[in-house]
Amino acid sequence: MTRHTVQVATLGFPRIGPKRELKTALEAYWAGKIDGDALLSTAAELRALTWARQRDLGADIVPSNDFSLYDQVLDLTAMVGAVPAAYGWSGDRVDLATYFAMARGSGAPGSRGGDSPVCEHGHVHGGGEGAPAMEMTKWFDTNYHYLAPEFTADQVFRLGSTKALDEYLEARGQGIDTRPVLLGPVSYLLLGKTRGADFDVLSLLPRLLPVYAEVLRSLARAGATWVQMDEPCLVTDLSDEAKAAYDHAYRVLADVTPPIKLMLTPYFGALGDNLHTALKLPVHGLHLDLIRASEQLAPVASDMRPDQVLSLGVIDGRNVWKADLNAVLDRVEPLVASGRRVVLAPSCSLLHTPIDLERETALEPEIRNWLAFAVQKVAELATLARALNQGRDAVKAELDASTAAVASRRTSPRINDPKVQARAADADPALSNRTSSFEIRRTVQQRRLNLPAYPTTTIGSFPQTAEVRKARADHGKGVIDDAAYAAFLREETARTVKWQEDLGLDVLVHGEFERNDMVQYFGEQLSGFVFTKAAWVQSYGSRCVRPPIIYGDVSRPRPMTVEWWRYAQGLTERPMKGMLTGPVTILNWSFVRDDQPRSETCRQIAFAIRDEVIDLETAGAVVIQIDEAALREGLPLRRADWAAYLDWAVECFRITASGVRDETQIHTHMCYSEFNDIIQSIGAMDADVISIETSRSRMELLDAFSDYRYPAEIGPGVYDIHSPRVPSVDEMAALLTAAAGKLPADRLWVNPDCGLKTRGWAETEAALTNMVSAAKAARLEA
Ligand code: GLN
Ligand code: ZN
Repeated sequence: MTRHTVQVATLGFPRIGPKRELKTALEAYWAGKIDGDALLSTAAELRALTWARQRDLGADIVPSNDFSLYDQVLDLTAMVGAVPAAYGWSGDRVDLATYFAMARGSGAPGSRGGDSPVCEHGHVHGGGEGAPAMEMTKWFDTNYHYLAPEFTADQVFRLGSTKALDEYLEARGQGIDTRPVLLGPVSYLLLGKTRGADFDVLSLLPRLLPVYAEVLRSLARAGATWVQMDEPCLVTDLSDEAKAAYDHAYRVLADVTPPIKLMLTPYFGALGDNLHTALKLPVHGLHLDLIRASEQLAPVASDMRPDQVLSLGVIDGRNVWKADLNAVLDRVEPLVASGRRVVLAPSCSLLHTPIDLERETALEPEIRNWLAFAVQKVAELATLARALNQGRDAVKAELDASTAAVASRRTSPRINDPKVQARAADADPALSNRTSSFEIRRTVQQRRLNLPAYPTTTIGSFPQTAEVRKARADHGKGVIDDAAYAAFLREETARTVKWQEDLGLDVLVHGEFERNDMVQYFGEQLSGFVFTKAAWVQSYGSRCVRPPIIYGDVSRPRPMTVEWWRYAQGLTERPMKGMLTGPVTILNWSFVRDDQPRSETCRQIAFAIRDEVIDLETAGAVVIQIDEAALREGLPLRRADWAAYLDWAVECFRITASGVRDETQIHTHMCYSEFNDIIQSIGAMDADVISIETSRSRMELLDAFSDYRYPAEIGPGVYDIHSPRVPSVDEMAALLTAAAGKLPADRLWVNPDCGLKTRGWAETEAALTNMVSAAKAARLEA
């Protein structure tokens, strides 16, 4: 039997640059400080470096067209000329101005795209003059956001960009024959939404395919032999029509002449019931995500046609841990020995990992030795390929180091805290149940709080002005000392408390000036978390986040927020909310250890936050808010997996909230709008009050709550904090009336949609003044 040489492929590489060079260039361009040529030349330099880097690390198959100035889905929209009419595209090549107008809104004429205020986690949007940006949506279950294509029933597709070809030729000029990456036609359509009349996006496929064929032909003529077709939708629940669309699309693309080989590349999960569909397609290769779904290797290996190449996603493209290389070899060796043509790859594009661990010089060496970022992951793949091609002895040192790192991570006292493990294992139902039912709690809480009807409050943060950010940065650099920084924060807090009293708000907040980020602030104080200096991951466009890394058992060495709460409450007679981030949100916005189930890690965080809730109560807090902004984001890709996730997510929230007495009022906040799917779970969280985003849909979103007869109190956001616009009293009063038509008026609270940290003080003051007036007007009517 012939043994084929095993090759290494990377499916995509981070593009923001090791020092976020692309971010710097983009923002300079948007600000008018550099011109388009300068931006494009920075981009070309980054691509050249990235290609050379991957080749030097040992990648045989290097991708091109994985680079993007903003987003790879937007690139596809440009490629197929699906530019929405609002952007006034001429129908020629999509130029930079049109591209960034789609990404960021067109702003004033001649501008380089507006700036939609979006928090770093992508909670979106905002106005400006001109055409707004296209809608941004989470990319599957990652924290990356793409711009959702918009299709009309009479949608026309035509070649709008030659980027895929240009970048292929560019790499060739550098002596690297790349495998271009395209988002496949079926996933592209399925990720889009319809505009105007509702219709099936898949009906557009026959019109779309000719553009793909044209691009494939141009690549083939230029010398490309393979193209990577990303089809992540193949791991999601598909209708029969969608499966048929796959059949059709790949049959058409297989006939492209001159011929080109397609590597069909699904990722982020198991093919599952789409396995059959995928195996039938006339493609030359199939990739499998064996990190998320290792069980699919056996059936695919046995059912795949012998001439097809199998791409094995054996290195985690979604996380930061070193792989157990010997364990991978144990699985792959028999397959190679059997004569199958094999390519080794990460589970998905490395876009979702930070670039290079080398830059993390300050990390604890033991922890650092457990980590691998994109660069290290390509090196791991190269080691695996050498072991398969030349025998394990050829890379003995590398394999031994991998085994040692894995063993150290398993046994390190840094990771294992028996007390934390024992506590998380406690299944006593009392831990996740409040003493009394909501109705009983409500009576005692009302007596104690004595609030008016339509009580007013805010979601927590107040403007993080340039001054606040500068003080934080100066403190970080040691320019101002701890005492000076604390004094500054106290002053900001005191001013904000007084200001809320003057405005007439009923339940106050301290303003969160001491917090950089709602997850990082807690992660930095919890054991089991580590933070990096430069491990940036793209969230959208030029925005990057540095997610905390949860490496070990999580505990809370000391109270995290009590001192700030005590200080703020000491300034006022009115109730001051304790303000916490919930365990599910902390989990979903972090890199999570992969040596135990996520649910287990979440439970440990839940106990840590529970202790904080109890300490706040002991200090005297009567209202405590536990934000779960990212609970919905964590929903698995397959519906069949939702219930299990929601079960433990809700249980974790309840653990945090159930350590307090009946009279302590627990609030939660969720800042997204699709509640229909999860309304039962929101009910099951058993919070006393929930604040949610609703204003942009004029309270229609409350239908989910009213249909479900949501029992507890609700603060439907009465104004959109994502825009600087100040809504009038009448407008907010009308929204309250609408809300009261859907839910019992005596259960309504009045608050904005989300925290105010991205806003300025002037508009915040104007909007909250109107909001308080609207609440007063509603009280008169009640
Ligand atoms: N308490 C946080 C704030 O007000 C909540 C933010 C969020 O939900 N994203 O900023
Ligand atoms: Zn929010």
